[in-house]
Amino acid sequence: MSEIVEKPVTCPKCSQITTLPLVCSVNTEADPEIREKIFDESFFKWNCKKCGFHSRLLHPLLYNDMKNKFMVYYIPNVTRRQTIDEKLEFEFSDMEYITKRIVPTVNAMKEKIVILEQKLDDMAVELTKTAVADVVAKSTSQSVHDGYFTDLSEDENSMTFQFFVGIDHRPYLQTIRLEVYHRSLGIVKKYFSGEKKKGGFLNIDQVWSKAALEKYRSAE
Ligand SMILES: [Zn+2]
Repeated sequence: MSEIVEKPVTCPKCSQITTLPLVCSVNTEADPEIREKIFDESFFKWNCKKCGFHSRLLHPLLYNDMKNKFMVYYIPNVTRRQTIDEKLEFEFSDMEYITKRIVPTVNAMKEKIVILEQKLDDMAVELTKTAVADVVAKSTSQSVHDGYFTDLSEDENSMTFQFFVGIDHRPYLQTIRLEVYHRSLGIVKKYFSGEKKKGGFLNIDQVWSKAALEKYRSAE
């Protein structure tokens, strides 16, 4: 079931106030087209009925994929590392078997969905990304701003990340061998499996990864 809240929205161009039904929770089984709408960003598109002004209307969204047993909670610009939603914990009795994540951006939400749909361990993906970002920074002699998991190829035994490098944030693709991911997975299993049992929604990103790597290095 999709959950909807009514919210007044003011058009930045003509100041017309419209009350909009904002979808704040979606379920991929009930609405199979929702994934595509999020990936092509039509989901967050809004246009003013009075003057036709187009923009993005970003608002919190809980994305439920029960088939793959995960939930991604997009909260624009969230800075919390963990969020506990008591209503949800109560609603779903098997919550502890569901991977729950919070993300601050639409891009991070898309990345999480892709990672968790492929049954990858997102903690291991983030650790891998940190390692690969270091390699990219060295090989390009440029700063790395952002990075996203894009692709896994079992046939080619590889994983691909897209980074944004340099002052102009130029896209830069880096493919690595899956062994790097498997090594990260070993680290997660040995040192961070306890974190998976934490309740609520966790923010597993590069901030988490860098802190985790420091913990791991001091433990080794
Ligand atoms: Zn308008």
